[in-house]
Amino acid sequence: RAKARGKNCYEIYDQGLTTAAVHSFHLEQDLRVALKERQLVLHFQPQFNLKDTHLCGLEVLVRWQHPVKGLLPPGQFIDLAEETNLIVPMGWQIIEMACEQILMWQEMQLMVPPVAINISPQQLLEADFLEHINEILARYGITRSQFELEITESLIMQDPDYAIAQLHALREAGYRLALDDFGTGYSSLNRLKHLPLDRLKIDYSFTRDIGKNPRDEAIITTVIALGKSLNIEVLAEGVETQAQYDFLRAQGCDSVQGFMLGRPVPRHELELSRIA
Ligand code: C2E
Ligand code: MG
Ligand code: MG
Ligand code: MG
Repeated sequence: RAKARGKNCYEIYDQGLTTAAVHSFHLEQDLRVALKERQLVLHFQPQFNLKDTHLCGLEVLVRWQHPVKGLLPPGQFIDLAEETNLIVPMGWQIIEMACEQILMWQEMQLMVPPVAINISPQQLLEADFLEHINEILARYGITRSQFELEITESLIMQDPDYAIAQLHALREAGYRLALDDFGTGYSSLNRLKHLPLDRLKIDYSFTRDIGKNPRDEAIITTVIALGKSLNIEVLAEGVETQAQYDFLRAQGCDSVQGFMLGRPVPRHELELSRIA
């Protein structure tokens, strides 16, 4: 009996796997088409300086305008793109699209703050990453300090020495660097000391519990102090309430991003000021 049940379980499990595999196979084909037909769409989320409340950055967040499924958030395709290595050509397409957009805003005499782009480890670890990104920016005539590259701790975990060398080369070339989702990975403070960062982004999971969990508040306070002593700006992600905003401001956090201040929106919904 136990054996029979075991066999059934196995079949169900096996069938489940097959369905998932077929699903991701179709999605992978769709994703290849998406790149070719340029179905990716960029949304932008504003970042604000807490001292003077000025717009101090825009984070690029990709979406996929799927012909059948509608507008898909990155949570539904980035993992697959990473597994299939499609993230590399996709990442280059996103960088090109961001350049096109920056150029268009500049031509409209709009003030463009630094634009932050999420870079997957696979893309950043490509041997010619620096050369390739330099070439694209040069082609559009965009300065490197206009770009902030957001990386995660998982990049450092994969190949620490190489990753750190790449980051130093990028920083020396003039790119801004931010460590995204800070606090959710496993990189040691010892390693942080060696990273040439402009900014630390405190993960949403800490911001969320401000006013609810004193431990999260203690962690945030500590990260802000750490940023100050290492001379790295600190931005808190996922600010949704006035109480969170007030806490972060009182603690001396440099900047914030979150639904309370602005959701990720397509370019025509953004309000950028004109160059005076
Ligand atoms: P992330 O880089 O940490 O981006 C922040 C995510 O938090 C975004 O989700 C954003 O919409 C969401 N968010 C912003 N403010 C709030 C808030 O107040 N409350 C809550 N609950 N959420 C907030 P999104 O756009 O779904 O992106 C998810 C993740 O997908 C990103 O996390 C990033 O890791 C990845 N991603 C997005 N765009 C790209 C891209 O162009 N390339 C790569 N490689 N990854 C990307
Ligand atoms: Mg990010
Ligand atoms: Mg983040
Ligand atoms: Mg996050």
